[in-house]
Amino acid sequence: MPASKPAGGHNNVNTALVPYAANVQNSRGRRYQEAPPNYRTEYQRDRDRIVHSAAFRRLEYKTQVFVNHEGDMFRTRLTHSVEVAQIARSISRILNLNEDLVEAIALAHDLGHTPFGHAGQDALNRCMKEYGGFEHNLQSLRVVDELEERYAEFSGLNLTYESREGILKHCSPHRAKELGELGERFINKQQPSLEAQLTNVADEIAYNNHDMDDGMRSGLITLEQLCEMSLFAEQYETVIGQYKNLTERRTIHEVVRRMINSQVTDLIETSRANIESAVPSTIEDIRLQPQPLIRFSAEMNAYNLELKRFLRKGLYQHYRVRRMSTKADRIIKSLFEIFLDDQHLLPPEYDNKVSQMEKVEGVTGKARVVADYIAGMTDRYAIGEFERLFNPSQLT
Ligand code: MG
Repeated sequence: MPASKPAGGHNNVNTALVPYAANVQNSRGRRYQEAPPNYRTEYQRDRDRIVHSAAFRRLEYKTQVFVNHEGDMFRTRLTHSVEVAQIARSISRILNLNEDLVEAIALAHDLGHTPFGHAGQDALNRCMKEYGGFEHNLQSLRVVDELEERYAEFSGLNLTYESREGILKHCSPHRAKELGELGERFINKQQPSLEAQLTNVADEIAYNNHDMDDGMRSGLITLEQLCEMSLFAEQYETVIGQYKNLTERRTIHEVVRRMINSQVTDLIETSRANIESAVPSTIEDIRLQPQPLIRFSAEMNAYNLELKRFLRKGLYQHYRVRRMSTKADRIIKSLFEIFLDDQHLLPPEYDNKVSQMEKVEGVTGKARVVADYIAGMTDRYAIGEFERLFNPSQLT
């Protein structure tokens, strides 16, 4: 039987950018001037630099909720970043925004994440309390601005302003002051580009839905529990009404994909209406809006809050996740303390960096290098370092 053609939809998408999309003409450029690329756009070049970075490759062995070695079926930060890029690019194309920029931001947004997900981030933030704290968004920016060592003429990846703006999703006003142009919007309460707004919401859609999916797969949350959530229950009724005798695995997948679809559809329709009533003509008009134009309807927002609350209670605070988190916390804390106490335990390149930074910023600089080293670790590398430093039977 011949394959049928898809009916309706948006097959003939106009790919011309809207005038208020980010583009090369209205770009605020790079920190270090470079000749324009020959056969790529500036944002494609950003994306390519991100894909070729060391921090990007390490995302494969970093996790959000489940530790990497708990099973090969769970998401990692790498697959999460690809999912965010997929969702964000689809929406971007429909809204005629800059898909290349959206992809760059999506693939870079988690580069600064510590090992062991939220637990690792919280632990490192506690360790760094007296030394300026640790925020994963700021760390992602630090990775692309300073920590990657790949190019002859500059440290970091020298990304465009717009990619950096998208990576820095949140920032405390205190920190914003130190960031110059990039920090201004947090002080002046302005918005980032629509591409940045969009990637931020795509991140939320991706992690809420995949945490639910992984949570089910791990057996930590049950189908009955999921049915307590209105958005899930609604789609679940449709699926079991339409298909009899589906396995639980297929049923869950059908429900989750419909949930993602309904969130994406709501986001496109609400944002499109917001843009129509705001009538922006330039990217500066977007930045001056009192609130983001890319957002869910009030109804979908309420559904999402319910989903988040469900995940916090049912998954993130599940006793088995807590057991993993407490181990993660101990590993991060122990590594931080031992390295801060004796910098010569660090690999020589970090030992040298500690000496350099200590000269400029004292113990705060020293702590920052230790935090950079720990934040860059994958889950398994952190476990390995802990074993090598604290397990008496490992004397090599
Ligand atoms: Mg994310």
